[in-house]
Amino acid sequence: MTQLPRRAVLAAPAALAAPALAQAYPTRPITMVVPFAAGGPTDTVARLLAQAMGPDLGGTIVVENVAGAGGTLGAQRVAQARPDGYTILCHHIGMATIPTLYRRLAYDPVNGFATIGMITEVPMTIVGRRTLEANTLAELVALVRQRGERLNYANAGIGAASHLCGLLFMSAVGTAMTTVPYRGTGPAMNDLVAGTVDLMCDQTTNTAEQIRAGTIKAFAVTTRERVPALPELPTAAEAGLPDFEISVWHGLYAPRGTPEPIINRLSQSLQVALRSPVLVQRFADLGTTPVPPERATPAYHQRFWQADIARWRPIIQAAGSFAD
Ligand code: ASP
Repeated sequence: MTQLPRRAVLAAPAALAAPALAQAYPTRPITMVVPFAAGGPTDTVARLLAQAMGPDLGGTIVVENVAGAGGTLGAQRVAQARPDGYTILCHHIGMATIPTLYRRLAYDPVNGFATIGMITEVPMTIVGRRTLEANTLAELVALVRQRGERLNYANAGIGAASHLCGLLFMSAVGTAMTTVPYRGTGPAMNDLVAGTVDLMCDQTTNTAEQIRAGTIKAFAVTTRERVPALPELPTAAEAGLPDFEISVWHGLYAPRGTPEPIINRLSQSLQVALRSPVLVQRFADLGTTPVPPERATPAYHQRFWQADIARWRPIIQAAGSFAD
């Protein structure tokens, strides 16, 4: 909170010089913060985006993983950065749940950011180690009910999508498991492949290739429709959990106070990147698609984000599961 007046002071001269600033922008590398470990789904989306946006911007975007505390450390870093367009954030649905899940934060999780545009919505998958004694979702539900806390469930910390999906799954099954938090689902996946943890629910951007390679077992996809990249995998509803539905949206943010021409320049470049054939193909391989251009705008993203905060607030409050 103490950062806000300082940012406002910094923003004033920047705003005056904004048109010239946007024309010259960028003159040095832009840092795109990923609030989870390398190798996970947010990291994958960010790196594909950074590569595709760089040429359009005529500059370089460097991805930096600032992982920990369910994605709040990376978000804090960006909320408190200079609002000059050289520090941006690639985050996911956690931006909508963290304002309710975390009652004490060292940054403002809503007013600390300016939206640039949405990127994609990614299906999730319920997956397990290859040696798990269940082959279908029904068998998995029976196993979870039988073993309960003797089963380990990996996630990326409180506020992570994998955490939310795990909560939904445990509540649908009516049985708690032991949760094992990681700094991102990249390292969690390494342990799942190694068989050190039993289960995880994560985006297809992290799981699709492992599922196709047979290094992990997949039980269901969490969207209403099957995913073309994994056509054999049933939806949770088809496999016996009718109301189990969740997908993970990603968006791009800058610190609040970043000059509007720079935000618009970044949004324009985001829209170009989302049409790049390389990115579109890679997204498709990983089970997802870019959002259409009208959703990759600051205004649409802002409305969607605020509506999603309002959607999650009563759910989290009713569950009473706060990070603190
Ligand atoms: N997929 C992770 C999550 O559960 C985060 C990540 O590593 O990208 O939110």
